[in-house]
Amino acid sequence: MLVLVANLGSTSFKYRLFRMDESGGEVVAKGGYERVTDHAVVIEDALGTLQRDGIIASPDEIDAVGFKTVLGKDLSGCVIADQKTIDALDGFTAVAPAHNPPYAAGIRQFEKALPNARLVALFETAFYQWTPPAFHSYAIPQAWRDIGIRRYGFHGASHKFIAERSAELCGRDDVAEIARRLYLDGPQVVSGKPFRVISCHLGGSSSVTGIRDGVAIGSSMGFSPQSGLPQNNRVGDLDSAAIPFAMRTLGISLDEAERQLTKESGLLGLSGVSNDARDIRTAAAEGNTAAQLAIDANVHSIRHWIGAFLVDLGGLDALVFTAGIGENGVETRAAVCKDLEAFGIHLDSSKNAACRATEAVISTDDSPVKIIVIPANEELVLAREVYRKLS
Ligand code: ADP
Repeated sequence: MLVLVANLGSTSFKYRLFRMDESGGEVVAKGGYERVTDHAVVIEDALGTLQRDGIIASPDEIDAVGFKTVLGKDLSGCVIADQKTIDALDGFTAVAPAHNPPYAAGIRQFEKALPNARLVALFETAFYQWTPPAFHSYAIPQAWRDIGIRRYGFHGASHKFIAERSAELCGRDDVAEIARRLYLDGPQVVSGKPFRVISCHLGGSSSVTGIRDGVAIGSSMGFSPQSGLPQNNRVGDLDSAAIPFAMRTLGISLDEAERQLTKESGLLGLSGVSNDARDIRTAAAEGNTAAQLAIDANVHSIRHWIGAFLVDLGGLDALVFTAGIGENGVETRAAVCKDLEAFGIHLDSSKNAACRATEAVISTDDSPVKIIVIPANEELVLAREVYRKLS
């Protein structure tokens, strides 16, 4: 099955073409465009390039297109992308203004460009469909809840992959199979010991997710990807009273407050240096105290959520790090795991130091909790879900 994974930004379009079968998948072509003003033009161009390069004889050979949609109003899961999906994206444009409009438009454009292909949307919220109401309910008036304000959770494609892969690496093939088939069969009862994972996706955008028996029980992200840990330039968790107070005291409008919280906050806001973890590390090493504070606040927040899920899960079998900082950030991983031996979390510092962007177990051999680094590959995760959905 040929699956095109379409990554649509407001001014960008990136794609990877996968050949998928029962045993897995491989990338057969990839490409991308920046500073896009008309997505329809670059989609046509990409299909033309695939033909000219001899990858496909005709666009009709592409069986399916996968979209990693973020947040839909009253819709989640891994679904056939149709008008209902577009309406759901449109319904939450105000919450995900950078992500929802390009996907809504992209689905329409692929319907025209590839009329015979199946279009599939995998919502980033999909992994959290089965979280308990006690987790996803904010303590707000009913009218607010009626318009869809609740915790959703994001980075679902990445964390679901961690649910599958961590179970495989810990010899829990029963749970790995449940996790793989989750969007087809829903959660399943596991016989024997539960398998409990905390997955830390630490990148430009970061979240921590608790996973029991292949299913998410909660996420550090709530109503929008704006919440939870400090993000690269977005605020993360903030007391709701801070916004009206800042608007009144600084004399700024709601739009300006929103801009500052989404563009000038997070690690950038705290460090005053950069939104990139590497630059912040360099500045801290040179003695910049604000940069050090950004690092410390980030680690504090990661540990806060690990603590929350440790209790919710009633213990832990695997602590996983993924995405740019999770895969490469030796110092961040060490700081997150510091003094957690009482909880069975024993980091092996030489294994940690040796692990950069590869899959590895970095806990000591006798650590009750396995600490694992698992590289993220969200495009492949998406291609797999599309293949599972359509097979
Ligand atoms: P996203 O896809 O969300 O943009 P990534 O998963 O690519 O993000 O992660 C980007 C982050 O990973 C950046 O903050 C970057 O500084 C960090 N990162 C990448 N390489 C390293 C490294 N070698 N050491 C520490 N951090 C790194």
